Amino acid sequence: MGTEFTLVTYGEDAQYLTAVGREVFEEFDRLDAQMSIYNPRSEISAINRNAARRSVRVEPKLFKLLVDAVQHSQSTDGAFDATAGPLMKTWGFFRGKGRVPTDSEIARVLRRVGYRHLHLNETDRTIRFDVQGIELDLGAIGKGYAVDRAVDILRYYGVTRALISSGTSSLYALGAPPGARGWSISLRNPYDAEIAANVISLRNCSLSTSGNYEKFFELRKKTYAHILNPTSGKPVEDMLAAIVVAPRACDGDALSTAFYVLGVERSRKYLATRGNLIALFYLPLGSGRRFRRAILRSASPNPAKNSMGAVFARIANRQGTRSRVRPRRSDEGPLLENFSATRKDVERQRPNTNGGFALALS
Ligand code: ADP
Ligand code: MG
Repeated sequence: MGTEFTLVTYGEDAQYLTAVGREVFEEFDRLDAQMSIYNPRSEISAINRNAARRSVRVEPKLFKLLVDAVQHSQSTDGAFDATAGPLMKTWGFFRGKGRVPTDSEIARVLRRVGYRHLHLNETDRTIRFDVQGIELDLGAIGKGYAVDRAVDILRYYGVTRALISSGTSSLYALGAPPGARGWSISLRNPYDAEIAANVISLRNCSLSTSGNYEKFFELRKKTYAHILNPTSGKPVEDMLAAIVVAPRACDGDALSTAFYVLGVERSRKYLATRGNLIALFYLPLGSGRRFRRAILRSASPNPAKNSMGAVFARIANRQGTRSRVRPRRSDEGPLLENFSATRKDVERQRPNTNGGFALALS
């Protein structure tokens, strides 16, 4: 997946943790071999080669991920679209050098882009494309999915304190380091990787980022970033980063990409009918290297049934009355703190890494 995964975990028995960590990294290798579009032998590459000619049987978990991906496309009006691959190639983001294609080139490529061309048959677990040249690219959901799989493995083996991340894309904060209420996470300034824009504390939930600084090229003083609007076929402009906190990293991963495309107002509409999600945007402000933040949270109709209800209440409280919030005693539920800290508070802090027992397996 072209990503460096990291795992930090605490526990009594270093040997045991190392063995569990090894399982996690073996799973990452398996997922990479299955989903990489850079590897011609991957299952995704085989689907891309064959599914326009015949139905292709898909491994059960990957099939479930494809179903989720299509659902994210449907619910975001195609802002997230796992068939955006050919557009990425046309703009030179795939192995090549960045270039600006002509409008007619884009129009031609758009004919073979669109989740509506994917046909998933749940009965026999197959996929079929109805147009030649469709290409699945799980770049905007696969890393979150891999993080979720790692969390499953860690939980299965009874690990209760871990921070697992796929590069700068998605992470999951499992429990908290000893003596802490959550994992301390630095969100980088969109203009400077060395400066933190927010430092938040996270527990038992995922965080995913889509930023214009991850992969981009510059031509004639204009920056073209690697997230494309699948409707226009062009890179999204006027967005620096979209960050999503969600129970599952695969949803957060897909949605951070979708919100990046949708922008604040359309994301607000999306969130009005959902639960369990928080979104943070960094948006350009005037010329120069200034930015502003926007924080949105999903409607949570029934906080008691909503696993992140307490998180929402906390943020609402902070944003609204600024009253002191009583600390939660339990170490169990999801936690997100400092999400609305002011710029003055956080920009003096450097990105930090969490100490602990770091596993350097690869
Ligand atoms: P990161 O790779 O930094 O985690 P994202 O999760 O936003 O960032 O994924 C971006 C990648 O997803 C791109 O590199 C490309 O492969 C693919 N992509 C680009 N635009 C879209 C889109 N609108 N929907 C789905 N995938 C996309
Ligand atoms: Mg993503």
